[in-house]
Amino acid sequence: MQHYFVDKINDSFILKDNDFHHVKNVMRIKNMQEIVCIYDSRKYLCQIEYVASSYQIHVLHELKNSTELNKDIILYQTLIKNDKFDFVIQKATELGVSKIVPTICKRSIIKVDKNNSLNKINRYQKIIKEASEQSTRSIQPTIDNFIDLKDIELDKDTLGLVAYEKDDDMKSLHNELTSLNEYQKVAIVIGPEGGFEKDEVELLIKKGFHVVSLGNRILRSETASLASIAIIAHYIESFGE
Ligand code: SAM
Repeated sequence: MQHYFVDKINDSFILKDNDFHHVKNVMRIKNMQEIVCIYDSRKYLCQIEYVASSYQIHVLHELKNSTELNKDIILYQTLIKNDKFDFVIQKATELGVSKIVPTICKRSIIKVDKNNSLNKINRYQKIIKEASEQSTRSIQPTIDNFIDLKDIELDKDTLGLVAYEKDDDMKSLHNELTSLNEYQKVAIVIGPEGGFEKDEVELLIKKGFHVVSLGNRILRSETASLASIAIIAHYIESFGE
């Protein structure tokens, strides 16, 4: 069933942007057909009634099935080729990430002007909205403005991890996650196509990040992001089973 993030005006749900066009002309949803509306992180089973050239949304009842993780995952994704970056945003959203921070590091081949990034951020937010609705999430992950790796700060309630393939005696991601119950959030930093400079990893370690291995193979940046978020999300959801 189609999910839509909606606004609320005078106690009625209002579709966002051009979602009415999507409902009527793309998905060809019929009059009084059911859709799920998401408002304020809660989901409602609704019916859409076409009224003249507009519509009215009737709420049937709230849906209680939460699809959100009980801990936040923050992805610091260093800049990689545009289409790959878009792919990471879409897949990380489906996998349950709660925040994505586009991160500039020394070997990022893509250069951005942090003060002129609004169009990019708006495009990322559109990808996030669509991926959130498709994966029936109750929230849309947030996307921060671009930051430099050296400016990453780790909060006390966050387990900080940096995926690094160069050290031999590293803990696996799974082993590091065994301490996750002491934290409310987990942050993971993923390097670019050319990898991290050693001093970047050392800086992150100084800031409290733990170096983790994702296995004995060298993964592409986008593969490393998705693999690590899938592992973290699975660990969170299966914790205590
Ligand atoms: N150093 C890599 C090479 O030799 O090709 C280039 C970096 S890799 C393509 C991109 C990023 O994915 C790395 O910076 C790291 O963050 C992550 N990554 C890839 N494979 C990994 C592994 N086996 N363990 C931990 N992180 C890995």
